[in-house]
Amino acid sequence: MTTRVAIVTGASRGIGKAIALRLAKDGRHVVLMSRSQGPLEEVAAEIAASGGKASVMTCDVGDGAQLAKAVEGAAEQHGRLDILVNNAGITKDNLMLRMSDEEWGSVISTNLTSAFVASKAAMRPMMKNRFGRIVNIGSTSGLMGNAGQANYAAAKAGLVGLSKTIARELGSKGVTCNVIAPGYIETDMTANLPAEVKQSIMGMIAVKRLGSADDIAAAVAYVSSDEAGFLTGQVIAVDGGMTMY
Ligand code: NDP
Repeated sequence: MTTRVAIVTGASRGIGKAIALRLAKDGRHVVLMSRSQGPLEEVAAEIAASGGKASVMTCDVGDGAQLAKAVEGAAEQHGRLDILVNNAGITKDNLMLRMSDEEWGSVISTNLTSAFVASKAAMRPMMKNRFGRIVNIGSTSGLMGNAGQANYAAAKAGLVGLSKTIARELGSKGVTCNVIAPGYIETDMTANLPAEVKQSIMGMIAVKRLGSADDIAAAVAYVSSDEAGFLTGQVIAVDGGMTMY
C-alpha cells in the first residue's frame, strides 16, 4: 500500500493539530506547517510516539512565495503529494465601519489567498499521480455572514467559490476539492468568547454542545480518503445542526 502524503497548514494547535493527528493515525505521512517550529515539533513527536509519520516545515502562509516553495518542496522531498488541507486561519474582527484595510487584507491573505497559492502548487504533483484531495477549512460565517467578521466571512465564502472551481477544473484528473465548514468549535480561536455569547450560540445548535477539533478531523479524514473519490465541490457544514442548508 502507498503511504499517502498530506500537508496540513496551521497544524501547531487547535483544529489543524487534530486533523494532523487523525490523518497520521489513518496511516498518512503528515507534513505539519505553521509559523512556529516548537509547537510543530511537539505535534510531530506526539505522532511519532503513537507510531505515525510526520515532518515539520515552518511557513508563513501569508507569504505566497514562501508557501508555494514549501508545498513544492514537500512534494519533491516525498516524491508525491496526495492530500492538502488548507486549515491555517486568523480572525481580526471589527464592525465594518471600523475595519481597517490591514484587518481586511491580512485576513483575506491568510485565510483565502493562501488556499489559492497552496492549491496551485499542489496541483501539478497531484495531477501527475491522477490522485489528489484538497480540503479547505471554511466556516459557517462564510455561509451565513457574521456581524463583525466582514473580512473573515468574505474569505471563507471565497473558499467556497475557489473550491468549486478547483473541483470542476481537476475532477477529470482524479483530484477532488471540498470545503469543511466548522460551526463553533472549542479552540484558542473561540476561547475568549464572552459566556453570554456562548450561551446564545448554544441556542442555535441542534446537538446542544460546541464542537470539538476531533469532530472536524473526522470529516476531513473522510473527504480526504481514497473512498471519497465521488465527493467533490461540496461544502459540508460540521456545526451540530446550526445551519442545515
Ligand atoms: P487556532 O487559532 O487555534 O489555530 C490557528 C492555526 O493557524 C495555528 O496552527 C496557527 O499556527 C496557524 N496560522 C495562523 N496564521 C498563520 C500563518 N500566517 N502562517 C502559518 N500558519 C498560520 O484556530 P482554529 O484551530 O480554531 O482554526 C483552524 C481553522 O478552522 C481556521 O481556518 C479557522 O478559521 C477555522 N474555523 C474555526 C472555528 C472555531 O470555532 N474554532 C470555526 C470555523 C472555522 P502558528 O500561530 O503556529 O503559525
